[in-house]
Amino acid sequence: MLQQTQVSRVIPKWYSFLSLYPNWASLASAPPADLIRQWVGLGYNNRVIRARKTAQIVHEQYHGRLPSAPELLEALPGIGKYTSAAIQCFAFNKSVPVVDVNVNRVLTRFYGITTTQKPTHIRELANQALPKKDTYEWNQALMDIGASICKAKTINCTICPLTQSCSTSSAGTTPAISLSNASQGKYLGSNRYYRGRILNLLKLHMQNRKLGIDQLSTALQQNTSDNNMEQIKKALQGLQRDELVDLHPNYKEPTHVSLPKHL
Ligand code: SF4
Repeated sequence: MLQQTQVSRVIPKWYSFLSLYPNWASLASAPPADLIRQWVGLGYNNRVIRARKTAQIVHEQYHGRLPSAPELLEALPGIGKYTSAAIQCFAFNKSVPVVDVNVNRVLTRFYGITTTQKPTHIRELANQALPKKDTYEWNQALMDIGASICKAKTINCTICPLTQSCSTSSAGTTPAISLSNASQGKYLGSNRYYRGRILNLLKLHMQNRKLGIDQLSTALQQNTSDNNMEQIKKALQGLQRDELVDLHPNYKEPTHVSLPKHL
């Protein structure tokens, strides 16, 4: 829930979700349409569908106990390296670094890493910097520094506990970095962008249940001045893999698309 939405907006959703699905069994057997309704406002419906699949696996294969081994966690739907690390640290108290976007930024500035260096390099540095104990608190503290002091656009080195050894702080001040235009540019025309536009258009045409790909492309063009057919097909195939649309007559060369019955 927190990957896309602010904490203050997640809190009521979290409590309401937990009251409806308090354990793996209830989540595993929940109808997908009910879950998607509960997820409204949190973005990316496929997350809750994957969480349901994970609940089914945990319920059936692991007797209702989430495994703690990284290779088992990362084999579950929707759990990648970051989520696996967060679960290992925060749920199982294991000594692993949790490198989210905030921590990544703090470490990048602290070590004076160039943006061309790979994320694995940052994870290695995070691993080396990890203290022998209190890693739970360590990870939380780095996340908090990234969220409140060493932010994307502004930094406040004078109150930062890392200021004495930070490579960037030693330069005095870091100019504010504006990422808004770059982020917007990356989003427009991306797979995420097409997925969102397609789902919105399908909901608008719900009464027809089935929509021709050509109609969809024309509607996208009217709405966005952009109708790259290859991108549309790629987004549709991803949506079908996530069980959010049905493609007809087949996955590879669809001519029509519809919303699945559970939506
Ligand atoms: S000292 Fe400044 S640049 Fe370094 S981590 Fe703290 S806020 Fe960020």
